Amino acid sequence: MASATQLRNFVGGHWQDAAGAELLGVSNPATAETIAQVPLSSTAHVDAAVTEGLKAFADWRETPVGERIQPLFRLKALLEENVDGLARIITTECGKTYGESVGEIRRGIENVEVACGAPVLMQGVNNEDIARGIDEHMFRQPLGVVAAITPFNFPCMIPLWFLPYAVATGNSFLLKPSEQVPLTAARIVELCDEAGFPAGVVQMIHGDRNVVETIIDHPDVRAISFVGSTPVAKAVYARATLHGKRAQCQGGAKNPAVILPDANVDIASEILADSAFGCAGQRCLATSVAITVGEATPTFTEAICDHASSRRVGFGLDDEIQMGPVISHNSRTRIEGIIEDARSEGVGIKVDGRQQTIANFEDGSFVKPTVLSNVPVDGGVSGTEIFGPVLSLMHADSVNEAIAMVNNRRFGNQACLFTSSGVAAREFRTRVRAGNVGINVGVAAPIAFFPFSGWDDSFFGDLHAQGRHGVEFYTETKVVVERWPDNWSRKF
Ligand code: NAD
Repeated sequence: MASATQLRNFVGGHWQDAAGAELLGVSNPATAETIAQVPLSSTAHVDAAVTEGLKAFADWRETPVGERIQPLFRLKALLEENVDGLARIITTECGKTYGESVGEIRRGIENVEVACGAPVLMQGVNNEDIARGIDEHMFRQPLGVVAAITPFNFPCMIPLWFLPYAVATGNSFLLKPSEQVPLTAARIVELCDEAGFPAGVVQMIHGDRNVVETIIDHPDVRAISFVGSTPVAKAVYARATLHGKRAQCQGGAKNPAVILPDANVDIASEILADSAFGCAGQRCLATSVAITVGEATPTFTEAICDHASSRRVGFGLDDEIQMGPVISHNSRTRIEGIIEDARSEGVGIKVDGRQQTIANFEDGSFVKPTVLSNVPVDGGVSGTEIFGPVLSLMHADSVNEAIAMVNNRRFGNQACLFTSSGVAAREFRTRVRAGNVGINVGVAAPIAFFPFSGWDDSFFGDLHAQGRHGVEFYTETKVVVERWPDNWSRKF
């Protein structure tokens, strides 16, 4: 199925052609070759999936949680067996290196493992004798049909931020993957089918904005999980909550890292080169701004420029490659345009990764690592999510000034500090406005049993993805107050 040219939806336990749907080409960003056609499904396709999801939910919600997690154990084993094949699909449609693809699969598998703890994670609470002879219990119950809409940059991990928790807690789950990277999702859903989820419990509909809006508006879809850019996250959150639905919508980012003079600058620059240029800068936790404090500036600048210029860029399945292309030609044009606008506003370009061709991959959408210097705190580029391998350098005279610069942003996905001072680290982690904080860590990605805690314009909602937050998001609490007086029994 995953290798077929024309992709299909997975509805009610069957692969189905999206009859009548317009088709969109899916490209390998390293070669520009079309590798599949994805259907842009219609309202009728969404309706059919929701109907099947509802049917499945009736029995699935009553299936004991210990039984519900058995297909998840099998899914974990199948994902482990298929790491190599999945990684090749990810690299081919998304562009990241093979090693990066394996890394994201591992982070996805972690979520399957954590969701297997649903028998404990979804336990309720109770108190005996809240008044004499009266007991009170809180249960967690599933919502019904829930949906996730996912972005292009982690085609395996991000669907797995949601799917395992949704189904383990008794919901039926509908995935709308990014139309730019639908092949990985198709393979994951094939593995779910093999793992033995009952028909309708895991479903997938391909499509674009129209399908997303149809899913959000459908009265029988109870909750929306979304990951993507901030304007879309905001719009999806507004639309879903207008319908009174639960929504957790993760948006874009512009992540700063602060380097203090007492940091080990060699190590910090190596870690931050990986953070800024790994996955071609297309990670929502990529560092895109480095703020050096005091005399850290000259050494860090030289070291990071060396890392940027020496990074080996090419097709991610080739050996020794450290960075692949960005997702599309459109993306490359957009990134190069932002760099040019910054240059015309007086920003310096220390390493220029534009207009690059890679031997044997001349049609690929490559932008090499780029380092911008003298970036003004309030300029256009410092507030714009570039989502490419571009690092902006800024300078502060003190930790306090650096923290103020970190907090002077609309995004709050991640902030990192490099230092050997515990005092500075504590001050930083207490005061920065960011949901994910790294201390001597360049990509502070929470492991699956912690919430993925974006703040401000990086997240709209209350409960985040992963772990206990995932379980709470996909369940409703029901509180029962009960009494059984002895002397009443004779009356019934
Ligand atoms: P995107 O917003 O373009 O698309 C995300 C999803 O929304 C896709 O499935 C797409 O089909 C759908 N979509 C696109 N436009 C829509 C619209 N107008 N209405 C409804 N749905 C729409 O994002 P992308 O380019 O695929 O992904 C990159 C973005 O995702 C970056 O901004 C990145 O920071 C962000 N991201 C955030 C996190 C996080 O955890 N905060 C994680 C990964 C990616």
